[in-house]
Amino acid sequence: MEVPFDGQPEYTDVLVVGAGPSGLMCALALARYGVDTMIVERREYGQIYGNADVIQPGTIELWESLGLREGLMREGTPILAYASWSVDEDTGGLERQPQGPNVSLRDTRYPYEIALPIENIEGLLRDDAAKYRLQVEQPWIPTDLVILPEEVGKPSAHTVRVTLERPADSKWTQRKRTIFAKYVVGCDGARSWVREKVGIKLERRERDDQAVNWGVLTFTPETDFPDTMVKAVISTPDRGMIFWIPRPDGKARLYVPLSSKVDTRTTSRTAFLDAISNVVDHVFRPYTLKIKDCDWISTYKVIQAVASTFSAKNRVFIAGDAGHTHSAKTGQGANAAMKDSFNLAWKLAFVIRGWAKPTLLVTYEAERKKYASDLIAIDRDIATAISHGRNNARFYKKIWEERNRFITGVGVCYHSPLTPVEKPSPLAPRLTPGERLPPAAVLRLSDWRPRNTHDLLKADCTFKLILFPGEMRYSVTMVDSFVSTLFKELRSWTAPEREVLKLFAIFSDLKLWSHWTDAPESVRDPMSVYVDDSMVPDVADMELATTGVYSLYDISPEGCAVLVRPDAHISLVTPINVLGAQEIARFLVRL
Ligand SMILES: Cc1cc2nc3c(=O)[nH]c(=O)nc-3n(C[C@H](O)[C@H](O)[C@H](O)COP(=O)(O)OP(=O)(O)OC[C@H]3O[C@@H](n4cnc5c(N)ncnc54)[C@H](O)[C@@H]3O)c2cc1C
Repeated sequence: MEVPFDGQPEYTDVLVVGAGPSGLMCALALARYGVDTMIVERREYGQIYGNADVIQPGTIELWESLGLREGLMREGTPILAYASWSVDEDTGGLERQPQGPNVSLRDTRYPYEIALPIENIEGLLRDDAAKYRLQVEQPWIPTDLVILPEEVGKPSAHTVRVTLERPADSKWTQRKRTIFAKYVVGCDGARSWVREKVGIKLERRERDDQAVNWGVLTFTPETDFPDTMVKAVISTPDRGMIFWIPRPDGKARLYVPLSSKVDTRTTSRTAFLDAISNVVDHVFRPYTLKIKDCDWISTYKVIQAVASTFSAKNRVFIAGDAGHTHSAKTGQGANAAMKDSFNLAWKLAFVIRGWAKPTLLVTYEAERKKYASDLIAIDRDIATAISHGRNNARFYKKIWEERNRFITGVGVCYHSPLTPVEKPSPLAPRLTPGERLPPAAVLRLSDWRPRNTHDLLKADCTFKLILFPGEMRYSVTMVDSFVSTLFKELRSWTAPEREVLKLFAIFSDLKLWSHWTDAPESVRDPMSVYVDDSMVPDVADMELATTGVYSLYDISPEGCAVLVRPDAHISLVTPINVLGAQEIARFLVRL
């Protein structure tokens, strides 16, 4: 899309630099939240760049909250099972080792990874962004960025001036633009220009012995190897581990460790393909594997690094690979990148709208830098497992299973002022503040539709307050006076409280004996009243699908109120009384 240039500067609330997974998620979320957003990309339209191909359960949940999960399912391949193999040292042939579920978790609705090409992931995000009239402007490259010192203290000022230019060899006539943005988000990858420009340093964390050269390729296999449709992990005595990831359309991706003598800068594509084919011929015996139609081949070294800070003057932020890099083995990079942006986007929207103070933005680094450091610690363990030792398949499986909650993204816990009390409340001991609300079966009373608590958590930039008051007929006064105190206390909040805080009530009644019109007046709405009498068909585990939410969350007989952030993480668990209402109001007003 060409943008007219009359020499005048342009203004936007947020300028996102880079249209990979983090940039697209950031811009898309902001556009959905009604924030004036611009996203620029240095590539020409249609040039494929990224590498990611596996979406984790926690990210599937995020996409579901945006109403985008169907696209992932339609265009991707769910990976449900995991097969492990090792090379027998005596015969030199492959031997089957224990197999199992790829995701060994109960508390997710989606116990699998989804493999799909990066162009599909980005394409789905771009298509959705277009519905909100947001298009990636490309090719544009930022050549200058200045945070105007005299404007920094004014929250509504367009404080960051960015010069954009066309790539030197491009055909466009319009060559230069000046953008003034309130905020800039650098989503421009591991070699981030934005990061460099604002002087943020990368702290390297990898060890020399883990700097293995990896060959990676996407291709159509011709093979009698039996585990082409699941994730296969092959342990070799001398080369570390080889990974097989199934892809849509009968394709596959292989990760193969190469000799550290291979010079990734000078070796040609054909030589790489030969090197990988040699390894594959040797390792897959007694099976045969021919690499047909290689779509993409590349090599990389594991670089583990975290940026020293994720923001400059609370005006320029970095997200995704710009802030942290690690190995591709746990399929985390794009997932982490999108989660970074999703974490940041609602905070930017709140601050830009004046619903929260700029200090809210500080929690982005507190939460996501800690996450990145934890990820790198796990990545190091996994890098050790896959590069060394005879029992590496077993060791890898052990780490994979032990850390599954973190790796899948469903067990990520945030520690920041947005989680004022970190210990679970005795009112709901199984809910951990800082973690995302676990999925649970509920039933919407107005139409008896089986739902999931996650269905209440649409990504619409609002806090959700979910009340668990027990039985409807005994809780009318309690709920009404709680809600009335809450909204009275919220009058000093700068946000339109009835729009930005959505209320739901989940009662412990049976559906046969209750009706939504009998619910306390303050929550009486056909879309807001639920009961703990359901069976949700789309939960990983039968027990989860059928066990009621009161029992799963271990809600105490007094009941409780659960405040959930716009990104589905739990902030507070309080009693349903005056003190609880005041605690929630205080939290929101102080944002
Ligand atoms: C072989 C391999 C396999 C991987 N597999 C997986 C996987 O299965 N799952 C997973 O989650 N992750 C995987 N990753 C990691 C994943 O690809 C990255 O972590 C992810 O793409 C990071 O997203 P991002 O948006 O932060 O950065 P990028 O994807 O790098 O996107 C950055 C964007 O910014 C643009 N850009 C760069 N500089 C500028 C500039 N100056 N101006 C404007 N635009 C700019 C780039 O063109 C690009 O479009 C893999 C990585 C590798 C190497």
